[in-house]
Amino acid sequence: LIKENTTQMYNVPGKAVMLNAYNKTDIVLCFSYEKEIPYDYRDEKQQRNIISEQFTGQGWRTPELLEEVSQSKTFYFDKINQIKMPSWTKGRVALVGDAAYCASPAAGMGGSLAIIGAAALADAFQKHHGNFELAFQDYNESFRPFIEEVQANAVNTLDVLIPKTEESIRKRNTQPDPW
Ligand SMILES: Cc1cc2nc3c(=O)[nH]c(=O)nc-3n(C[C@H](O)[C@H](O)[C@H](O)COP(=O)(O)OP(=O)(O)OC[C@H]3O[C@@H](n4cnc5c(N)ncnc54)[C@H](O)[C@@H]3O)c2cc1C
Repeated sequence: LIKENTTQMYNVPGKAVMLNAYNKTDIVLCFSYEKEIPYDYRDEKQQRNIISEQFTGQGWRTPELLEEVSQSKTFYFDKINQIKMPSWTKGRVALVGDAAYCASPAAGMGGSLAIIGAAALADAFQKHHGNFELAFQDYNESFRPFIEEVQANAVNTLDVLIPKTEESIRKRNTQPDPW
């Protein structure tokens, strides 16, 4: 759909249409909404309808891209969430990755967080010679500032990806590439 290793993006307030091309082209359709939209996460037809309602009538290449999406066999729909827990451990159980501190795809590093988190936990075990209570306390305390920073950056990235007003779209477009 576009040249390999390039990205193109179209915005109107509260909506983004993005093409990411590598060896194929991903079509990304994002929108923000003030209220929670009820939907059944197993009902793909319903999810396709939500996308169609949100993007039908929009400009740029949106009609052509909606047609592509309607033919797509790899449709994926989700809301952008973050997981925030007061503790990542309970008893002898510790969580790492999305289950503990999902930062959302807007962070662009959820895979890294899962690996870095597992390493942080392993390091804590080594430091405390296998004492799981001390290791868990260390993991909960020392890894938290990093996670909070990554989650806050992801929220800021969303504002850049889906600006809410014309003014913020214009402002975003005059600023250096945030990525
Ligand atoms: C659209 C999208 C784009 C993304 N882009 C990026 C990116 O560019 N870079 C990046 O780093 N990250 C990205 N991420 C995030 C990344 O995929 C996740 O953060 C990462 O996969 C989290 O790893 P995890 O091991 O914690 O969880 P998961 O990868 O979700 O693994 C959990 C596993 O547990 C299994 N499971 C669930 N319940 C049970 C059960 N009851 N019993 C047994 N097994 C179970 C699941 O099937 C799954 O295999 C993206 C995510 C999405 C949705």
